[in-house]
Amino acid sequence: MVQRVTGRTKLVGLLGWPTEHSVSPAMQNAAIDAMGLDWCYVPLPVPPEGISQAVSALRALGLVGANVTVPHKQAVLPLVDELSEEARVVGAVNTIILRDGRLFGHNTDVAGFLRALREAGMAASGRAVVLGAGGAARAVVCALRQTASEILILNRTVERAKSLVDEMGEGQVCRVLGATLEAGSLQSALDAACLLVNATSVGMWPYVDSSPWPKDVAYPSEVPLFDLVYNPQETALMRMAREAGARAESGLGMLVHQGAESLRLWSGREPEVCVMRTACLEALEGDG
Ligand code: NAP
Repeated sequence: MVQRVTGRTKLVGLLGWPTEHSVSPAMQNAAIDAMGLDWCYVPLPVPPEGISQAVSALRALGLVGANVTVPHKQAVLPLVDELSEEARVVGAVNTIILRDGRLFGHNTDVAGFLRALREAGMAASGRAVVLGAGGAARAVVCALRQTASEILILNRTVERAKSLVDEMGEGQVCRVLGATLEAGSLQSALDAACLLVNATSVGMWPYVDSSPWPKDVAYPSEVPLFDLVYNPQETALMRMAREAGARAESGLGMLVHQGAESLRLWSGREPEVCVMRTACLEALEGDG
């Protein structure tokens, strides 16, 4: 909860469309308060046709920076003055910093995923299987390339998996392969896999009973699951994995860590991650 706004209060924004269900304002303002900063994190709902003007307005209004969420993450790429290596490789910006009138675009999903994975005690040194080839999968593959020896990307639309392979696989020590998400390809991908990541949007609230897992494939008890979905905190896929005896982690940790990394970039200080996690959980519970 933001206690007060003064004449000196600085703003951090969230560019998205819509922004009503975002937990970022609750999570960031809790951390901002805990750090004693005279800042306020505000939602800035902007329709797609207004994103260019909105990014210019960050500069005109002198914001500290902004988070960028669906559907603007790609659109913002050409609108900033400089891109971090992660933002360039992932092809998406989720954090903008304003410094000396210049806009720097970052992608904190990569670091957020790696921190959450480590915190969950999960590692990917051998073969990792990624379900999905959308925006989140791009950040996950970019992160996993740093540690895994092989990444298999399985997606409903195989063309998207293949184009991700072409972009992410070139010049890498790690082998990156792609196929259609179906029972046969999944079954063989799981052979000797050390990690499975669900980077599809299947299972998200309100469609909590749906799962990207093909029928007739048993979940392998020895393969840990990291599900990027954080609402609900236990997806149908996570339930299936746990019932099979496998470890399963939700995307909450990634959500918290990508937010903490953004706040670190804006403030140059270490945020209280546990404060952010508590605020996030409260906001999710309040949102249904
Ligand atoms: P996106 O770009 O829209 O991609 C969606 C992906 O899900 C695509 O690969 C799509 O396959 C697949 N998909 C959708 N419906 C499907 C179905 N019925 N069966 C099989 N596959 C299906 O979305 P995104 O931005 O990557 O986000 C994906 C998920 O990650 C969301 O739940 C999001 O909330 C979550 N996420 C979490 C965090 C975090 O911090 N925890 C961060 C980012 C995203 P096609 O290509 O075939 O359409």
